[in-house]
Amino acid sequence: MQTKHYLIAITALSLILVFLFLQKNIPARWRPVVDSFEEHYEGDKIITDLCRNVGGRMSGTEKGRYAEEWLLDKLRTYGYQDIQTDTFSFLGWQRKTCRLQVAGISDSVTAMAIAMTPDKIEVVADLVDMKNGDAADFERMRIAAVRGKILLIDLRDKPGSRGEHRTVKIRRALEARAAGIIFYSRYGGNIISTGTGSFKNVLPIPVISISRESARLLKDRLKQEAKVQAFISVQNTLFQANSRNIYVDIPGMSLKEEYIVLTTHLDSWDLAEGAIDNGIGISITLNLAKQLKLMKKRFRRSVRLIWFMGEELGLKGSYAYLRQHKAELKNIATLINLDMPEHINGFNLMIDDFNRPVLEQLARDMESLNLQKLVVNVPWLNSDHVPFLLAGVPVLTFVGGNNNYTSKIYHSSRDVLEYVDFSDLKRSSLIVGLTVLELAESQQLKNHHLNAEQVEERLIASGMKEALKLQNLWPFK
Ligand SMILES: [Zn+2]
Repeated sequence: MQTKHYLIAITALSLILVFLFLQKNIPARWRPVVDSFEEHYEGDKIITDLCRNVGGRMSGTEKGRYAEEWLLDKLRTYGYQDIQTDTFSFLGWQRKTCRLQVAGISDSVTAMAIAMTPDKIEVVADLVDMKNGDAADFERMRIAAVRGKILLIDLRDKPGSRGEHRTVKIRRALEARAAGIIFYSRYGGNIISTGTGSFKNVLPIPVISISRESARLLKDRLKQEAKVQAFISVQNTLFQANSRNIYVDIPGMSLKEEYIVLTTHLDSWDLAEGAIDNGIGISITLNLAKQLKLMKKRFRRSVRLIWFMGEELGLKGSYAYLRQHKAELKNIATLINLDMPEHINGFNLMIDDFNRPVLEQLARDMESLNLQKLVVNVPWLNSDHVPFLLAGVPVLTFVGGNNNYTSKIYHSSRDVLEYVDFSDLKRSSLIVGLTVLELAESQQLKNHHLNAEQVEERLIASGMKEALKLQNLWPFK
């Protein structure tokens, strides 16, 4: 009992110290904002409501439409009257059945189809262990050893190598004329992770996903026998789908025509609640939408908050937005994309360094919020900022610290509310909110875009060309 009281006292004292530290170090101009944030914060409530009452929300499905209505309703509650929606069409996909049978293993192996696999396909072929499925693994194998085979591929990458998206590995397998692919999860724990297999068209072969534990059984079989046959049967629904991108504006003052745009995807996978991917982003943006309305303040620049649909199926919503708003792109002074913004510890300016001093100053001002990595230029792909990055729009994302567990469970049946770190969510919410407000008000920020030549050159320099080419997203020759 004594020890318990002692511990409570210590905890309380450290909380007070942390609070005093934050108060002391936050620039004076932020005080009213931080106070208002504390008073009206409802990020926990938003993400709980989203996970428990909306749940999985794949674009183009009933649940996806329900999520759109849920978001519209929230915005109306916060007092937004002029909510814009853009409808877009795309090829929708929903899983039906997926079966994997391997010779020598009596039960069928639990498997899940990767999105954009065909509506109905069956394949019987020999199994080949393709290790990590990177360029070196494919080069090492003779063409005949891969052609017409079902490839077992690790979603994990070799230590020290740049992470490769599943679509890149699929493209290589297609070029080698494989008959099918069985991916297995990066981590153990009987996790099966889903994802899209293509940013453009329906795949011509079955691509499925199993756990790391199941993959071990398959590899054991391959060690015992020279030839191990596998049977894959997949059924999905392909349909003409519609979804809506939703956005609201806070009109600016003296630089009204310039925009700070904050984007986040509303859709998720069907296997769970989409709590980490991307309930966190949705909670942060909706909480900010609420706070901006309450502040009744107008900034130098306009602010636009966008919720995209169709991200998970292959950036459908953000590409549609790019097509529908082409003429306005030049007015985006910064586009900030939030996709699982956890444990934020810095800013990422991708390929455009022009406004680096502004972000460096901001990072210093946020010292008390523990932004250790400050400002980096590390372009990454596979989220809604990609179409804008390729169009030369200045893109900003947040650098996330390593959270061991959530990076393992996203895209799986475990992406549920229980894994959300509520105190971290609140901290991220404050950092994102302050960033938007500061950039909207900044005197130093310049609306600087890269031309096509500069974008191409910088993407090549940062090693992004091969991945974008293999994903059919490279816009240059
Ligand atoms: Zn996401």
